[in-house]
Amino acid sequence: MANQRMLGFVHTAQRMPDKRPAAERRQDFAEIYARFSDERANEQANRCSQCGVPFCQVHCPVSNNIPDWLKLTSEGRLEEAYEVSQATNNFPEICGRICPQDRLCEGNCVIEQSTHGAVTIGSVEKYINDTAWDQGWVKPRTPSRELGLSVGIIGAGPAGLAAAEELRAKGYEVHVYDRYDRMGGLLVYGIPGFKLEKSVVERRVQLLADAGVIYHPNFEVGRDASLPELRRKHVAVLVATGVYKARDIKAPGSGLGNIVAALDYLTTSNKVSLGDTVEAYENGSLNAAGKHVVVLGGGDTAMDCVRTAIRQGATSVKCLYRRDRKNMPGSQREVAHAEEEGVEFIWQAAPEGFTGDSVVTGVRAVRIHLGVADATGRQTPQVIEGSEFTVQADLVIKALGFEPEDLPNAFDEPDLKVTRWGTLLVDHRTKMTNMDGVFAAGDIVRGASLVVWAIRDGRDAAEGIHAYAKAKAEAPVAVAAE
Ligand SMILES: Cc1cc2nc3c(=O)[nH]c(=O)nc-3n(C[C@H](O)[C@H](O)[C@H](O)COP(=O)(O)OP(=O)(O)OC[C@H]3O[C@@H](n4cnc5c(N)ncnc54)[C@H](O)[C@@H]3O)c2cc1C
Ligand code: SF4
Repeated sequence: MANQRMLGFVHTAQRMPDKRPAAERRQDFAEIYARFSDERANEQANRCSQCGVPFCQVHCPVSNNIPDWLKLTSEGRLEEAYEVSQATNNFPEICGRICPQDRLCEGNCVIEQSTHGAVTIGSVEKYINDTAWDQGWVKPRTPSRELGLSVGIIGAGPAGLAAAEELRAKGYEVHVYDRYDRMGGLLVYGIPGFKLEKSVVERRVQLLADAGVIYHPNFEVGRDASLPELRRKHVAVLVATGVYKARDIKAPGSGLGNIVAALDYLTTSNKVSLGDTVEAYENGSLNAAGKHVVVLGGGDTAMDCVRTAIRQGATSVKCLYRRDRKNMPGSQREVAHAEEEGVEFIWQAAPEGFTGDSVVTGVRAVRIHLGVADATGRQTPQVIEGSEFTVQADLVIKALGFEPEDLPNAFDEPDLKVTRWGTLLVDHRTKMTNMDGVFAAGDIVRGASLVVWAIRDGRDAAEGIHAYAKAKAEAPVAVAAE
């Protein structure tokens, strides 16, 4: 009880700054990318105070039972730790690698809040589950009996795949349709391989196939089938298509060559690293090697672009962002990594146009003053008169965020309801849209978000679909194996 009171106080009190030197703090996140030794995992797991009010778990979107698997790890009971870890998360070793833990579980660890540095929860999660793969503990979740009902899932990102695994385990015939040639969504074509190795995604995709999930690659709903057609084929359809319409900049010179969209750049880089030959990479238009690169934007996608450009051998890499460091949406960890790797940040600067004849040679920018806060509490950026300057650039990458595509139109389902942001409107208890038997999950509902939230949504949607199908076909589904 005293413990709880103390924790409550710590949680509501002002966050104490971590007073350790920067190099020591950075050590924490360097671990995420390195292979943990048994001793290191054990040492970290042992640091968990088993506080009794697990804020880490509360702030984990899939409610991972973190204290339990830390305890089991510290006792060397790794297979049991794996069982607990995989019970709430379909892709735990992926989350261990790429969750922004500083904003989620680790940021709310009471040890972090008492200024001693969080237990490196993500690294331990990765360690437990990589070990499970190495030891052969990870098995396909084949159902104990078939239900004779099929579900169609549009989109093979984390939301679609998490739902697919859950539904297949319950006994549904699951068909996943994706317009890409590989399954995984942004796990395979957005997030760079230096953060998330592609083999880690591939083995999960294969595991679902081994459980009986049926993939339809190169299948674009809206081109190869309409939503009404899929609804006739399946008892329920889940839309998990993510958000792909890139925000653009309209300014003088924005049509010049070598001004590219972030996802085109990252997708190409990922394809090349997977062994594909991509013409735009070969001819240099989506290749940073030997170039002065300027990335526009301050989110995680921008950080992935600058760090990819460094790895491709760019001559210089600059990131232009209109707000300051503390107001940027990207993870501070990622900024620290980028700076260590040689990226130069130009804070409080906004692009006004581009120079060049046919191909870009520079970004014309202005300095920004952050004025009074608006209704959302964020300071309004104001242009400083006479502050124009030009940054040399022969490749400009626009990482200005993503919006949903016009799905009702693309899917030939004009009655499908969307919010004023264009995301799909769902009943948050069931994940069903306004159309009977059509569910939605992931970024297409939340807007651009996180992998772990997509997993959570996919799991919730699978529950919603199961309840819906049970109600529809009471007799066969009532005896379903869980
Ligand atoms: C560059 C980048 C880096 C990121 N880094 C991180 C990170 O480090 N950590 C983190 O937690 N999150 C990160 N995110 C966010 C994360 O990737 C997304 O929140 C998550 O992938 C959303 O999952 P989803 O399943 O909703 O959609 P997606 O992963 O986008 O998958 C949607 C799938 O639907 C398919 N699809 C779309 N339309 C159709 C159609 N009409 N027919 C058939 N298929 C279709 C697409 O091809 C795609 O495969 C990053 C995002 C980007 C862009
Ligand atoms: S899933 Fe993400 S938030 Fe949850 S414990 Fe793992 S790393 Fe932390």
